[in-house]
Amino acid sequence: MPEQAGMMTATLAEKRLLSEASQTWELVFTCEAPLSYQPGQFYSFVTEREGKQEVRAYSLTAAPAGERMVLCLNRAGWFSNLLCDLPIGGTAQMHGPYGAFVLRDGPGIVVADGVGIAPVASMADALLRGQGYVGPLTLLHTATADGELFYRERFEQAERAVEGFRYLPLAASAVEAELERLIAEAGEPKPTAYIVGLNAFAAPLRQWFKDRGWDRKQIVFERYD
Ligand SMILES: Cc1cc2nc3c(=O)[nH]c(=O)nc-3n(C[C@H](O)[C@H](O)[C@H](O)COP(=O)(O)OP(=O)(O)OC[C@H]3O[C@@H](n4cnc5c(N)ncnc54)[C@H](O)[C@@H]3O)c2cc1C
Repeated sequence: MPEQAGMMTATLAEKRLLSEASQTWELVFTCEAPLSYQPGQFYSFVTEREGKQEVRAYSLTAAPAGERMVLCLNRAGWFSNLLCDLPIGGTAQMHGPYGAFVLRDGPGIVVADGVGIAPVASMADALLRGQGYVGPLTLLHTATADGELFYRERFEQAERAVEGFRYLPLAASAVEAELERLIAEAGEPKPTAYIVGLNAFAAPLRQWFKDRGWDRKQIVFERYD
């Protein structure tokens, strides 16, 4: 593969299956240099397939800590399988950080589904380390099954340790009713809405907030597909 500016090598140090049913893996890499990113951001992973460059984004699930990089990903197709199949000591190429799915000043409501919880896990890790808390945050966390509420213990710990952080694991069918309650409770100014997940989950929720008067600038949105 031709050399690309800013490209870094990451070496797989640990891997762990988080859910057999959804084939979700946590991969821990050691990078060749310390990483500098904001919790919630992603890196672009790059490889070549039949002479063509392939690039996929993966959110980091931990607060910055030197050369350590933690991903949480589903086996969804070619590239993600390649990463999940890497042996310990195997390498991947990536560059970054990128992305605007980061915490802003003031109150917020976060809605995340399935593996879309990855960038929020990074934010919670930072809050637990006492880094950059900006205001009361309520996290609505949904998944297909309870076993797929990844990083649940971290969020429960954050709820106990970080004032103003609320954690609500719930069924996807209960999200809208819970949001109605939360926005009535919050009043004005409107809390920032943070939405992340696959498009089928995230796009209707973005519309839900817009229908209730949220400006697009008050919605921090990241879709995975
Ligand atoms: C900003 C950003 C951050 C992302 N962060 C993550 C992350 O932290 N973890 C992660 O697993 N993915 C993440 N993704 C998705 C990732 O970049 C790839 O699209 C995904 O791994 C599929 O690539 P693939 O080559 O394996 O399969 P492809 O052949 O490219 O896609 C196969 C199918 O998988 C669907 N798909 C895409 N992402 C997922 C997913 N996560 N779970 C199930 N189906 C999916 C696609 O809609 C497509 O239909 C992120 C995407 C973006 C844009």
